[in-house]
Amino acid sequence: MTSPAPRSDAAGRLPGVPDAATVLVLNSGSSSLKFQLLDPVAEVVHASGIVERIGQDRGQAHLEAGDLRQPYAGEVPDHKVAMEVVTGLFEDAGMSLQEANVVAVGHRVVQGGARFTSPQLVDSWVRDQIADLGALAPLHNPAAVQGIDAARRLFPDIPHVAVFDTAFFTALPEEARTYALNAQVASEYRIRRYGAHGTSHRYVSEQVSALLASEGTDVSDLRQIVLHLGNGASASAVRGDAPLDTSMGLTPLEGLVMGTRTGDIDASVYAHLSRSAGMSIDEIDTLLNKSSGMQGLCGMNDFRDITAAIRAGDERAELAMRVYVHRLRKYVGSYAFTLGGLDTIAFTAGIGENVPEVRERTLEGLEAFGIVLDPEANARREKGVRTISAPDSAVRVLVVPTDEELAIAQQSLEVARSAR
Ligand code: ADP
Repeated sequence: MTSPAPRSDAAGRLPGVPDAATVLVLNSGSSSLKFQLLDPVAEVVHASGIVERIGQDRGQAHLEAGDLRQPYAGEVPDHKVAMEVVTGLFEDAGMSLQEANVVAVGHRVVQGGARFTSPQLVDSWVRDQIADLGALAPLHNPAAVQGIDAARRLFPDIPHVAVFDTAFFTALPEEARTYALNAQVASEYRIRRYGAHGTSHRYVSEQVSALLASEGTDVSDLRQIVLHLGNGASASAVRGDAPLDTSMGLTPLEGLVMGTRTGDIDASVYAHLSRSAGMSIDEIDTLLNKSSGMQGLCGMNDFRDITAAIRAGDERAELAMRVYVHRLRKYVGSYAFTLGGLDTIAFTAGIGENVPEVRERTLEGLEAFGIVLDPEANARREKGVRTISAPDSAVRVLVVPTDEELAIAQQSLEVARSAR
């Protein structure tokens, strides 16, 4: 690693991070480790970055802090080394993590099963439970366990907290979380709707409630739809502070059309491809998760490319967009009925926050249902929470930037403090 001029002060503290508590948030994927160091009370991000291509030929990583960009390239065979790369990046940037007043390490864990309804202080038992839940999330939980093991080795004296993507949705009503699958098989193999992106759905629905409450609205029974549209995408119906339904299921494959995932599809596709194409279960799993969705439909999964291609007359991109929006509208309609009416729709995540065309197409022609967008407000590229519906729209439509890292940091701090 290269060593630029130190940027910390004489005591080795982060620039601008004197004595306030910080939380290190880790999001371990199968081949990546995202990290963020932040002050969850002042809501200030001190540094963030990613280690990529873990276990592949040549790893790469970078850390960003203000104007500083600290790169790294080299072998990263596993998450243990990835964690060392992270601490090395901080050191090279003149910021010792050991000196950064880290009071908790928050780990994003995709699958917490039915058991983990709230964030958990990680001990050996919790760690083993997360590993055991890998059967339900083979693409996600094993990586989280590797990240947890590596971080606990490096920071043995700091509390580690697991924040589960599924926790918010453990409160789903029974009829929403139960599949119409043979009950004995479902029970034996723990098959039910767990949902995902729960940290984001909870955070965004709380932001919407807080905004409306500050305007004097009684939000105890507020009927919300949250559309988290990132590379992975999910919708939820929330009443008051309770989820009534969500589109992701046993795994994050179900529901909306996504960057590379099919979303809802006839389960018989597995049998058909197995019998007709001789594909193995793993091959079909990879096809449905990694090379379908927008990527499979038009060869692109970044909406910057897709919208540019549509403007240039690309018919495959246009069809992919229509398929994407068709699915979204189906969910908006069905959740409005599930909720028995609708007060708010919030768009969030990379696409929800940045692609006005998706928001417009999703909600156009719904005036009869009290949904009227303000085209100018929708087209404006602003940061922060903003309303994009017209003043006379019965349903308030908002863009609400999500911040999963902040939510994880805040929950981790709370758990770490109450464990003392
Ligand atoms: P994830 O966390 O699932 O990777 P994000 O919420 O970061 O997803 O969203 C990533 C996606 O958001 C990108 O693939 C791209 O399609 C879209 N996106 C992000 N920024 C923009 C932008 N400025 N304009 C258009 N699309 C964007």
